[in-house]
Amino acid sequence: MPEKEQIYTTLKEYFGYDSFRPLQEDIVNSIFSGNDNMVVMPTGGGKSICYQLPALLLPGVTLVISPLIALMKDQVDGLKANGIQAAYVNSSQNEDKQQEIYTQLQEKQIQLLYIAPESLSFIDNLLSQIEISLIAIDEAHCISAWGHDFRPAYTQLGYLKKRFNDVPVIALTATADKATRKDICEQLNIPNAKLFLASFDRKNLSLEVRPGNKRIEQIFDFLEDKTEEAGIIYCLSRKTTEMLAEKLQNQGFNAEAYHAGVAHEKRALVQENFINDTTHIVCATIAFGMGIDKSNVRWVIHYNLPKNIEGYYQEIGRAGRDGLPSSTLLFHSFADVIQLQKFATTSGNHEVQMAKLDRMKQYADSLSCRRKILLSYFGELIEKDCGNCDVCKNPPSFIDGTIIAQKALSTVVRIKEEEPMGTIIDVLRGAQNAVVIDKGYQNLKTYGIANDISWQDWQQYIIQLINQGYLEIAFHQNNKLKLTQRSKKVLFEGEKVSLANLAEFEKIKETAAQQIKQRTANTLFDKLRELRLQLAKEAGIPAYQIFNDASLKE
Ligand code: ADP
Ligand code: MG
Repeated sequence: MPEKEQIYTTLKEYFGYDSFRPLQEDIVNSIFSGNDNMVVMPTGGGKSICYQLPALLLPGVTLVISPLIALMKDQVDGLKANGIQAAYVNSSQNEDKQQEIYTQLQEKQIQLLYIAPESLSFIDNLLSQIEISLIAIDEAHCISAWGHDFRPAYTQLGYLKKRFNDVPVIALTATADKATRKDICEQLNIPNAKLFLASFDRKNLSLEVRPGNKRIEQIFDFLEDKTEEAGIIYCLSRKTTEMLAEKLQNQGFNAEAYHAGVAHEKRALVQENFINDTTHIVCATIAFGMGIDKSNVRWVIHYNLPKNIEGYYQEIGRAGRDGLPSSTLLFHSFADVIQLQKFATTSGNHEVQMAKLDRMKQYADSLSCRRKILLSYFGELIEKDCGNCDVCKNPPSFIDGTIIAQKALSTVVRIKEEEPMGTIIDVLRGAQNAVVIDKGYQNLKTYGIANDISWQDWQQYIIQLINQGYLEIAFHQNNKLKLTQRSKKVLFEGEKVSLANLAEFEKIKETAAQQIKQRTANTLFDKLRELRLQLAKEAGIPAYQIFNDASLKE
């Protein structure tokens, strides 16, 4: 293991930094101790140094698996400019070039070798001839079908640890919930990897959710004091991006549309103009933003509900990289939910997609601090409410929900954490449906102890318990509800629980509904019900179960 001094000298000499960012030093040391490591750190957090620095001090080559062939050249050129011996191998190179790299490798002239997972088989022979000291797997979420950017070639990477079983592995990603992390480690054969979880808290971003009616008017209103500021409006469809850009232009804003259907040169131009502040607003699909390094984006609006929290977090994360206060605004509409549910049911892995969408919806519907929910999604608990989201700024009133929580949690205990929310509520309310009877749940001690609370209210309470970290949803096990460290405090240590007053929630919903003209609301509601029933029929699952909505019980 190198001396601390040597590590700091290397940091300064090759990267120009005097100090490490949070976790970097611990990660570097863990590599030198020979551990396998799983690093989850937000974009821009400084993941690269975690393997680049050890690469300079370890005797052999560090193999870096990276999916972004397009960025590989830039990365390697950047390293070389700092005097680091780096190279990459990919399918675009000719044989001479590849031969040159092979020779350099054999002569131990290369410290970092970047390679795409698809190209690994080309250098299979070579790998047995060189000394490998570290294997880094960047964008490691690509290995998991539960992550949000699955790449089939990544699933073969598990063999690396089998073949080089005493070489430490470091897997790095900016986006992975708990289950995805576990999946990554299992697939890479590093079950004992040390987990490094950096904070995802971006305190400078304010969070706000509004009902999605009259969005355009709301946007003009929002932009009133932001005419010269850079911002992004994310939309679900290409058509919406164009419609919005045009409306904004008509109002005198410097706005452009950006989506995969825009010609290549035009897209590059929009991007360039945005970066140098000629274009202030980009109305874009999620295609926009990857790899764009602009620090002074002051606001991000989601015109439509994103399909999961990972995507939402990444997109709002493009605001305020300079650390200055920046605003984010999310519009929440029924129509979007329906649309997204449709996408989710037709995608592979639809149960997971659906569960993730549910979490997104719960975030948007939340009556408790939104940042807590966002961070708890990534496995991070914050003690205090954030004070910088709309719920914190305008909080609902609370009731003592300790007894309600105890009832719910002890039902989860008695049911051995084997059921999803719907069944837990059925047991609490003493329902007599097939699941309850088949499994003998009517004999549980908590059966029917809380039928004074309606099904919908129970649903709201349980969502609040989840959002406050008292329960967890196991997405990958049919959405079963699981206990947490915190639930034990309520059950055994007398911890008090506050729950938002649902009467208040009704009031919020009413105001939102009033804002939509009654007639539109009625037709919309009927249409919604029809669509839900139809979708459920196609899926062969009772509608009230898919949508967690008892009013759909026929
Ligand atoms: P990630 O891969 O996590 O998105 P990078 O490794 O690309 O992040 O680093 C993001 C930026 O932070 C880079 O410009 C990098 O030079 C800078 N950076 C990384 N570590 C440090 C540090 N210890 N001190 C100052 N800047 C750092
Ligand atoms: Mg990176």
